[in-house]
Amino acid sequence: MAIIDVSDLRKSYGGRAVVDGVSFSVEEGEIFGVLGPNGAGKTTTVECLAGLRTPDGGDIRVAGLDPHSDRSALKQRLGVQLQSAVLPDKLKVGEALDLYASFYDHPADWAALMDRVGLGGKRNTPFAKLSGGQKQRLSIALALIGDPRVAILDELTTGLDPQARRDTWGLIEEVRASGVTIVLVTHFMEEAERLCDRIAVIDSGRVVAVDTPAGLVARVGEEQRITFRIGDGDDGGAVESALKELPEVTGVTRSGGRFAVSGADSQDGSASLVLAVSTTLAAHRVAPLDLRIDRATLDDAFLALTGKPIDS
Ligand code: ADP
Repeated sequence: MAIIDVSDLRKSYGGRAVVDGVSFSVEEGEIFGVLGPNGAGKTTTVECLAGLRTPDGGDIRVAGLDPHSDRSALKQRLGVQLQSAVLPDKLKVGEALDLYASFYDHPADWAALMDRVGLGGKRNTPFAKLSGGQKQRLSIALALIGDPRVAILDELTTGLDPQARRDTWGLIEEVRASGVTIVLVTHFMEEAERLCDRIAVIDSGRVVAVDTPAGLVARVGEEQRITFRIGDGDDGGAVESALKELPEVTGVTRSGGRFAVSGADSQDGSASLVLAVSTTLAAHRVAPLDLRIDRATLDDAFLALTGKPIDS
């Protein structure tokens, strides 16, 4: 069941359409990614969902409510974590949570939430003394303090080091497991691939695709590339001929003992390129060295969909 429905959303600034007919729906309980380069219109889109900006056109329903006309009712059901949330330097973690809890009719238990986001020992620490990762976790806690059905998280892990980013991803998965629907705005492919059930790819104010991460990748084809090297005593010519005979293989290049084999699994899954190649090597008593298998990634999918890399 869709908990968010966006239909033909439009927003212009100074006569320039920055959101240009965006439509998508989000199912209850999923992590839905809004993925695109800087300036694509992601923040404008989700701030319209949250009732923080007024659209020029289109229709939005979040938990059955219109974010513009039902804004105060929606506030009780929606948590928002916006880019670079800043709190007063001296405000302590416990005070911030207590204050935000007071905005809601049925807030979550903020002390339990503080533990859940890993800030249990920081209750009396002022905002200014928190690390980047701790500030981010506090902002997630503030987005969840009203016990929302939907949480919008915008550029959740920008500016975090890799470990803090991974910790935050784990936290988001726990939030999803607790039943909260999450809209995650990101321009990090790895984040989208790891966390999102489905992704809307947005470019220049338009949705260019909505699919699962695997579905997006499949759109650029199932081609795989296997590279390896064989030993000096192995018969490279015989191996090359045998690989070229395989129905799964579309191309073999060899430079001395180095091989690159391209191909794909059969559509019905009955034939596997990796299995065919490894069986052939085994039949020739060849053990491949430095073996690598490369498949298309979400980066490749983004490039194919928009004609440019995401960080261009
Ligand atoms: P994203 O989140 O994908 O980076 P934004 O929605 O923040 O994109 O911005 C989309 C475009 O709209 C950008 O070119 C940005 O400069 C412009 N924009 C966003 N907000 C405003 C505003 N309040 N006034 C004028 N232009 C804006």
